[in-house]
Amino acid sequence: MGTGFFGKVLWINLTEESFEEETVSEEIYRQYLGGYGLAVKFIFENMPVKIDPLSPESIFGFFPGLLTGTAAPFSGRYMLAGKSPLTGTWGDSNSGGTFGPEIKKCGYDAILFKGAAKTPKYVLIIEDKKELLDASEIWGLDIIETESILKDKHGKFIKTAAIGQAGEKLSKISGIANDRGRIAARAGLGAIMGSKKLKTLVLKGNKKISIYNKDKFLDLVKIYNKNGKKGEPGKFFKSILKSVPNLAKTLRRFRIGFKGPPNIIRKIYRIYGTCVGNTIASETNDSPIKNWSGIGMYDFPFKKSKALSANKIIKYKIREWGCYGCPVQCGGILKIPELNLEETHQPEYETCCSFGALLLNNDLMSIFEINELCNRAAIDTISTGATIAFAIECFENGILTKEDTNDLELVWGNSKAIIELVKMIINRKGIGDILADGSKIAAEKIGNESVNYAITSLGSEIPMHNPRFFPSLAFTYNYDPTPGRHTAASIDYIDMGSINKFQKGFKLPKGWKKNEKKKQKCQKLVTSFHQVLSSVGLCSFSTLFGPYPFIDLINNFTGWNISIDELIEIGLRIQTLRQSFTLREGIDIANNKLPGRVSGHPPDKRGPTKGVSVEYEDFYKGYCYEMGWNPKNGYPLKETLKDLDLEFVIKDLY
Ligand code: SF4
Repeated sequence: MGTGFFGKVLWINLTEESFEEETVSEEIYRQYLGGYGLAVKFIFENMPVKIDPLSPESIFGFFPGLLTGTAAPFSGRYMLAGKSPLTGTWGDSNSGGTFGPEIKKCGYDAILFKGAAKTPKYVLIIEDKKELLDASEIWGLDIIETESILKDKHGKFIKTAAIGQAGEKLSKISGIANDRGRIAARAGLGAIMGSKKLKTLVLKGNKKISIYNKDKFLDLVKIYNKNGKKGEPGKFFKSILKSVPNLAKTLRRFRIGFKGPPNIIRKIYRIYGTCVGNTIASETNDSPIKNWSGIGMYDFPFKKSKALSANKIIKYKIREWGCYGCPVQCGGILKIPELNLEETHQPEYETCCSFGALLLNNDLMSIFEINELCNRAAIDTISTGATIAFAIECFENGILTKEDTNDLELVWGNSKAIIELVKMIINRKGIGDILADGSKIAAEKIGNESVNYAITSLGSEIPMHNPRFFPSLAFTYNYDPTPGRHTAASIDYIDMGSINKFQKGFKLPKGWKKNEKKKQKCQKLVTSFHQVLSSVGLCSFSTLFGPYPFIDLINNFTGWNISIDELIEIGLRIQTLRQSFTLREGIDIANNKLPGRVSGHPPDKRGPTKGVSVEYEDFYKGYCYEMGWNPKNGYPLKETLKDLDLEFVIKDLY
């Protein structure tokens, strides 16, 4: 066994209340790395086909990345994976903070669950002690209350990943939260944990991660972090940075978007976090407006969106917050006296937009309050906001009435009603019970043309970036094996960073933007690279900040001599297996179709994305060809499966 990994994963059988370690060979790490890679290998091979994801037979797990727990910058993430209760497809989601490293400190490269407990339980792993304990005292509590009680009981250094009320009530848009409100939110995986009556994992490890060439590894980290401090913007630039969120109209006029030199982007992330996009994305029409039916500069213009400006948000910041080992620290902890909130996580762009521009709501206090409510309940803010947008449009069109909504006046921008509806969804009260599983399932129950207002891909609410602005997002939203995700690799979206500078040897071919064939090849490359990045445990933002010693860190960690080509092949293997999982479940992903509002059918008649309709079907066919998949149905060809050492898939697909 090499170094850099523990060579074992932990299986917890909740029915039998047993713990079992499984040894993993070095070859598996070399083929799948960790994170999403290990996840798809284990879950594909162990999950019974076409079962209900909320049944005891369903398996799911926590998978830290290969480098998670080390000093490698941005490497603190863990991935959750299983079959999505929301879409029935492959489901994965990830979160930063400090929980991922703790899994490693417990001596495991993953923790997987099968079976289901009869009564609420939590898993306690402290050093070498492993127990399944009664959770009746914390069942029904939110994730912050849960963490506080468990810290009193087991010590302040424990780390938890818990479901809140949403997961307990099997909401298909619920997630799992660590660090008092950082959520692996998408794909509805919190409901799986709820169905297994598993409230939380409580971890405190004492194992050291072995590093093949520790001195060199730490040198690489030191140099990277030192270089990151260079190029600090001068006084002039700093004063410009202060006004970035207010430059929204100028950025739109000159079509500047979000690009910029890595040191400036780094600084912007550090100062503002992702909510720097609140005003800019709204103005440029990257943000979906009014349930995807509006145009930012007319329906939610700067004079309105500026109420949600990042400048206004960071006024409440009392300290920086970031994930384990991150030199940027893009998060923040806020104190909101108006809401009696001593400490709350700074809302991310996705949250601000889901409850802001999407609902024409510019009441900043309501965004803070909703963010705290959703974090505590561990529910996905994208899906919750989008489902409320759906409900408002149903109300506007007489499909829902005050009788259905407990007298709530569900109109655009009514922040009080929006807050109440969030609470009803979390607690499955009244109409909230129908909405708690997302808009597609709600539309099936409500009927009456309401399906027209459910803006989803295979049931997953579409995130807060517009394919009319980043065209290849239509492709990833529609066709990724976990559909409806902005964090899947879309070439246009990824191009906003400095991907070409990130790792020596990884370069997109010149002229790809103007040549469809080249663009499809690039899409294959970034899809693979993105899978590798996640499997190593790196935050997607890491590619925005300039050159990174990616391969050198992996090799000095493991003792391998891996090349960029081998890494690309690993990424292809992971994506092909994710695809195979979704196909094996009987999902006809190749014939999926986005709502016309998302792809611009019909196109906008005015505004920054006037006349833009995104055609993505032919692009997918070309991409399938590049991936070695059948362009007609997305099935990986047998030869491709053999070439990628995925022969075991053939019997399932053919
Ligand atoms: S950039 Fe932000 S999200 Fe990414 S690792 Fe750092 S703190 Fe976490």
